[in-house]
Amino acid sequence: MEERIQRVKEQLHKASYKLTPQREATVRVLLENESDHLSAEDVYLKVKDKAPEIGLATVYRTLELLAELKVVDKINFGDGVARFDLRKEGAKHFHHHMVCMECGTVDEIEEDLLDDVEKRVEREFNFKILDHRLTFHGICHRCREE
Ligand SMILES: [Zn+2]
Ligand SMILES: [Zn+2]
Ligand SMILES: [Zn+2]
Repeated sequence: MEERIQRVKEQLHKASYKLTPQREATVRVLLENESDHLSAEDVYLKVKDKAPEIGLATVYRTLELLAELKVVDKINFGDGVARFDLRKEGAKHFHHHMVCMECGTVDEIEEDLLDDVEKRVEREFNFKILDHRLTFHGICHRCREE
């Protein structure tokens, strides 16, 4: 946790930003809820517990800044709500998601799995892949076991 905060701090410094207490509180909430996919409002409500003086606008700006610096990714699962998701450290590309159409749970796949597909796209379309978003829609293992 502290090490990751430290690394985020360095990323901010490289881009000439400071890790203010409000920004730090926001990053902590993201780290503590890493497997969730929180909306800006969700993040705000949790940050408020740590830093009651913080405003929604500040949290919004912090999230946008973190997205710009590629600390988090903004993602949308089709419900019109932007969610903020920490990038896995050291990962070249964004991780994949499985969205359950019955219970709404979002699970993550950290392994890229797309090497062959990426090679084909690059070759057949002469397209240099920098990143991707992959969301599977279906029925999760929990719902299938019921
Ligand atoms: Zn995710
Ligand atoms: Zn990939
Ligand atoms: Zn499910």
